[in-house]
Amino acid sequence: MKTDESTDADIIVIGGGAAGLMAAGRAGEVGAGVLLLEKTDGCGKKILVSGKTRCNLTNSAELKKFISMYGANGRFLHSAFHRFFRPELLSFMESHGLVTKVERGGRIFPVSDNAQDVVKVFKKYLAAGKVQVQLNTKVTSIAIQDKGIYSVKTQSGNFRCGAVIIAAGGASWPATGSTGDGCKISAMLGHSIVKLKPALVPLIVQEQKLAQAMQGVSLRNVRATAFQGEASRIDSTLTPQIDYGRGEKKVPRPPIIESRFGEMLFTHFGLGGPIILLMSLAVTEALEKGPVAILIDLKPALTKEQLHKRLQRDLDQSGKRKIANIIKEYLPAKMINPFVALTGIDTEKPAHQITAPEREKIIELFKALRFNVKSALPLEKAIVTAGGVALAEIDPRTMASKKVEGLYFCGEVMDIDADTGGYNLQAAFSTGYVAGESAAEYVTSLSGA
Ligand SMILES: Cc1cc2nc3c(=O)[nH]c(=O)nc-3n(C[C@H](O)[C@H](O)[C@H](O)COP(=O)(O)OP(=O)(O)OC[C@H]3O[C@@H](n4cnc5c(N)ncnc54)[C@H](O)[C@@H]3O)c2cc1C
Repeated sequence: MKTDESTDADIIVIGGGAAGLMAAGRAGEVGAGVLLLEKTDGCGKKILVSGKTRCNLTNSAELKKFISMYGANGRFLHSAFHRFFRPELLSFMESHGLVTKVERGGRIFPVSDNAQDVVKVFKKYLAAGKVQVQLNTKVTSIAIQDKGIYSVKTQSGNFRCGAVIIAAGGASWPATGSTGDGCKISAMLGHSIVKLKPALVPLIVQEQKLAQAMQGVSLRNVRATAFQGEASRIDSTLTPQIDYGRGEKKVPRPPIIESRFGEMLFTHFGLGGPIILLMSLAVTEALEKGPVAILIDLKPALTKEQLHKRLQRDLDQSGKRKIANIIKEYLPAKMINPFVALTGIDTEKPAHQITAPEREKIIELFKALRFNVKSALPLEKAIVTAGGVALAEIDPRTMASKKVEGLYFCGEVMDIDADTGGYNLQAAFSTGYVAGESAAEYVTSLSGA
């Protein structure tokens, strides 16, 4: 129910992604008249592509671990999570007919494995709260008119309201509608924007020919470690045996930036796959300070001594077999030739002719396949945008702007980003819920005043 006749709505929500849908729904649920303006021809486009179209909604991790997944800025989310966290999200989903399941790594998905079902929940929620949705409406700026009244300018006319929630997302995956407008509009209103950077993105390496030669190879159970420095200068014995990065208890000592065990892959431009994406933001930030190398331990379960024994045994037993055929037992086929070429050994050389220094070279390469990082792929290709509206200018209890009365933020437009695992969507839902509820309280207080 609209509380002021001179306006088009009590609250205008800019953006119909995870955060905006939740904010609009909650504000409508508590009685505010809400208009949601969405730039594209449909709401929830990023939800639909999330989790490989299965939508990893949230994670079963306990709160402390959960918060650590957002890095230092995770502190900001304490209040929002206190109000609306995973249990509330899951019962909200269930009350709208969406049942969920927990998978490996605590990832929570709809039982249907279908992200469309999540968007359907929000359609119901918005309808129940009588939220008006206007698609194909791009907000270009916001003007503050008389006290307490905003004019939201779009390419198809202006709309008046008592409060605005900016939920326009970051600047990655522009096809889903997020092109950085939220930050531009917030900056026009006097907010500081922390520089936008790609997070969860593949990395381009200087050794592109090498990566290209192994393109498509996916490696499991390897360790990738990012170091500050040039690849050729890093002492491979510094490679740790534990993970370092968000969500891990211990902080690495320089020159180590981050280290992860798991799955990765080679692409035509460099390195990708889960463990590389996880370290990409730390690598991007380290590149601002100087060169960054990634050393891949292809055999992390074996020490150099164990590898030495095994290789020696294989060489002794193989006599006339070519070295390339022996390496086949250690690596995927597509890696053999590029790998042996790096050792400088002729691929045709028989096992019994391999010298001690050549054997050492092979072992060293198993323990440290070296790459120099050129850059991350651009922001548009990132799963998440790091940076955004500065958190110091937002009240974490209400998501209200500390600079402009009646202005609220939620979701990725803020300087919040997390590792993969459902954390980004939970942050969008939680901050959306709080922003919607707080904005509704604010407009009610205006009408009562
Ligand atoms: C491929 C991919 C997979 C992902 N998978 C997961 C996952 O499984 N789990 C997880 O937790 N996170 C995942 N994420 C991240 C997560 O989807 C986002 O962090 C989250 O959706 C952000 O929600 P948001 O509402 O803040 O922004 P968005 O979802 O980006 O929504 C912003 C909305 O605002 C609209 N908009 C923008 N500008 C304007 C304007 N000027 N006027 C009007 N409307 C505007 C956009 O069209 C868009 O609809 C994934 C991201 C990608 C790209």
